[in-house]
Amino acid sequence: MLTYRQKHCLQGIGIRQWVDRSSASQPPIDQEPAAEIEAVSEFIKPASIAIAAPVKAPVSRSGPELEPVANIIPKIEFNLDSWDNINQSIVQCKNCNLASGCTQKVPGVGNRQADLMIIGEGPGQEEDIKGEPFVGRSGVLLDKILHSIGIARSQVFITNIVKCRPPKNRDPHKDEIKACDAFLSAQIKQIAPKVILSVGRISAHSLLKTSEPVSKWITQNNQLTELNIPIKVTYHPAYLLRNPSAKAVVWQDMKLLHQMLNS
Ligand code: URA
Repeated sequence: MLTYRQKHCLQGIGIRQWVDRSSASQPPIDQEPAAEIEAVSEFIKPASIAIAAPVKAPVSRSGPELEPVANIIPKIEFNLDSWDNINQSIVQCKNCNLASGCTQKVPGVGNRQADLMIIGEGPGQEEDIKGEPFVGRSGVLLDKILHSIGIARSQVFITNIVKCRPPKNRDPHKDEIKACDAFLSAQIKQIAPKVILSVGRISAHSLLKTSEPVSKWITQNNQLTELNIPIKVTYHPAYLLRNPSAKAVVWQDMKLLHQMLNS
């Protein structure tokens, strides 16, 4: 049987207690002694919690307002246990609004047994047209950065946080990143890389579940992801194209990455 304090706490958070109506021995809760109610109220309603005034829902004569149907995208669960299934699922996916605005999906390319997996933000215009990540100006610079530590593009696997181009190259939204998360996790699981190179803010924030600036990890040693894979965060090549002076710190990062790959 519940104590009076337990009953009152349940009532306080809106849970109704089952009552055996056949028993006359249980007094209704609102008949408990006033002094005891005061003491319990202090316990369930600390002074620091402000209780907002109830907000009245707008009354509509035509019934409750419904979300516009166009915004409701049924989420489909995919079977992601093989490369064929992952790539097919990415192509079929309509789990967020990005799918309807892109030319084609950009799942990722490269060596499926790579030691190094590179994760960018999302396809840009050229990637959207070619169906391959990092093929525009940023891609050319990325290739040169890899070359500086003796790595060829064909040796690594390159993908992005989102597999569809966001309109006008805007940052992907949180729900779009979330909708794509299962694909990236499945790719990481298949490759099981020795190290992940995360380029740019969107990639770092999604992988490390943080909102701290990329500068925090620049030239720092590796971070561990939830998957227990060391990750090196560095500036995005597009940032380097706008700020060439940052290339010096990315070079430090590449030396660190080289050490991580060879340790
Ligand atoms: N920027 C990215 O983050 N990814 C690409 O594929 C291209 C540009």
